[in-house]
Amino acid sequence: MKYCPNCRLSYDDNAMVCGRCGGQLTYYPDQQQQYQPQAYDPTDHTAEFDAKDISENKVFAMLPYIMSWIGIVIALLAAQSSPYTMFHVRQGLKISVVSILVTVVGAIIPIIGWIALGICSVILLVVQIICFFSVCKGHAKEAPIIKSLGFLK
Ligand SMILES: [Zn+2]
Repeated sequence: MKYCPNCRLSYDDNAMVCGRCGGQLTYYPDQQQQYQPQAYDPTDHTAEFDAKDISENKVFAMLPYIMSWIGIVIALLAAQSSPYTMFHVRQGLKISVVSILVTVVGAIIPIIGWIALGICSVILLVVQIICFFSVCKGHAKEAPIIKSLGFLK
């Protein structure tokens, strides 16, 4: 087992360089440390994307979280060939769909629905902020909370 000291991503022994930053990989000093620094996170897809793609299309990948539907459309038009951007378009789409559902359901149920709508809106906003900062760091993590809803994979 090897890892990248910059990105803290794990690779197997035959990997030569880091798939994300292109840096040299080193072996874990011992077996124990292998599992300590980072537990495998199935919702983190950062390693699946090209470092060049991430750095070039970061700006477009941020749009769905900042501008919702408008951002999704712009990202689709401007960076359709970027798998990294498309990953975030899907995440942004999920958040926007959930937001519409919450608004519709919340609005038709008086009082309880309105309170729930208010709470959900705040939660969705926080999710968008978390996702936005994740893009700033060049990561590709699935949106928290939204990921458990299991649609639009
Ligand atoms: Zn790296």
